[in-house]
Amino acid sequence: MALLETRGLTARYGDFQALFGVDIALDEGETIAIIGANGAGKTTLMRSISGILANQPEAVLFDGEEIGALPAPDIVARGIAMVPEGRKLFPSLSVEENLLIGRYGRAVAGHWSLESVYELFPILKERRTNPGTALSGGQQQMVAIGRALMSNPRVLLCDEISLGLAPVVIRDIYAAFPRIRAAGASIVMVEQDIGQALKVSDRVYCMMEGRITLSGAPAALTREAIHSAYFGH
Ligand code: ATP
Repeated sequence: MALLETRGLTARYGDFQALFGVDIALDEGETIAIIGANGAGKTTLMRSISGILANQPEAVLFDGEEIGALPAPDIVARGIAMVPEGRKLFPSLSVEENLLIGRYGRAVAGHWSLESVYELFPILKERRTNPGTALSGGQQQMVAIGRALMSNPRVLLCDEISLGLAPVVIRDIYAAFPRIRAAGASIVMVEQDIGQALKVSDRVYCMMEGRITLSGAPAALTREAIHSAYFGH
């Protein structure tokens, strides 16, 4: 049984249908990447799993339970944490306060604490009293990841963590992921950078216009197949 699964997941914004029967599965310990062009529906998929967009109960399964209709706080409490697109830090709060917010929804013991997040991203310890907005984009992304880890999630949802960051910064951030995996999180990554997605994941799903158009292990996917699943031609 998969740890997390969507089954025939649909999503709408008013009259506009953004997802058409999306099926994905994440096994315990696995990292999957969701790739696709702008507007393909990747963020909508993440919002649907994290409870920001409500669904039919049976459209999302976690640990064998139907969670599709639960609100976001209940999803966090069960162990699914999101690193949202655009980081969404609280600007008036310090780095440390932003991190501590991650604990409110689910204060379970586990590998992740202020100390272990600071070990993962040492620069955050140096900056811990700075307001979130005084940080570089990469440092803000580290805070957003650390905040999600503070809930000791079983599943970490990461939406476009490399967006707008310099390659050297992206490399530093991705360097943290083997440790995040080793500490026990299973991961769903939304990533526009196909090369990065293939590098970090065990399996990739490609989306186009609200549907999954391709899935498989990186080694099994040809460049041509990815191109056509991504662009539709
Ligand atoms: P991006 O890389 O641009 O974030 P995406 O693959 O994450 O793209 P979504 O943000 O999920 O795509 O958007 C899927 C579709 O839903 C797009 O056509 C988008 O215009 C539409 N959409 C997204 N959010 C809303 C909203 N709040 N209201 C109406 N339509 C929306």
